[in-house]
Amino acid sequence: MFKINPAQYKTEDLTHTKDDYFPVVLAIKTVYPSNYTGRAKNSIQFTYGKLTKESGGYRFKFLKQKFLYNNSIFELNDIYGIDNTTANITDDTQRECVICYTMTKDTVVLPCRHMCLCIGCSQIVRMQTNKCPICRTQVSSFMQIKIEDKGAKQE
Ligand SMILES: [Zn+2]
Ligand SMILES: [Zn+2]
Repeated sequence: MFKINPAQYKTEDLTHTKDDYFPVVLAIKTVYPSNYTGRAKNSIQFTYGKLTKESGGYRFKFLKQKFLYNNSIFELNDIYGIDNTTANITDDTQRECVICYTMTKDTVVLPCRHMCLCIGCSQIVRMQTNKCPICRTQVSSFMQIKIEDKGAKQE
């Protein structure tokens, strides 16, 4: 276990975030066995956070996560509503696009990350209100997520 001793640092350095400065970064690196022959060469998960001061000590506050895979870096975001589209849901209404109620929703609204539309209706939203139908946030972009059909093999 790794312990942070707050006395070693200025309080401001532990609690302050500005621009791209994050006081605490945890890096979890995958160590591959010597006989490993897969495609992954280098994968590290980075967790960024800061400490917040509370009575009696500090608490770690999670800010964001990134994932390095070989030469690519990804920002990990939660997607709201994606659970409803997984194969084990029985109520089909939750799988459907909130606009047409016909197609399976497969498109995430950014920046609010509501997964609520099919790709076709995302184009309609884009041309009409350009606002998320769930929370009315101004849309910056859409991200289509391909989800395997029910009964498809899972890894
Ligand atoms: Zn739709
Ligand atoms: Zn939204």
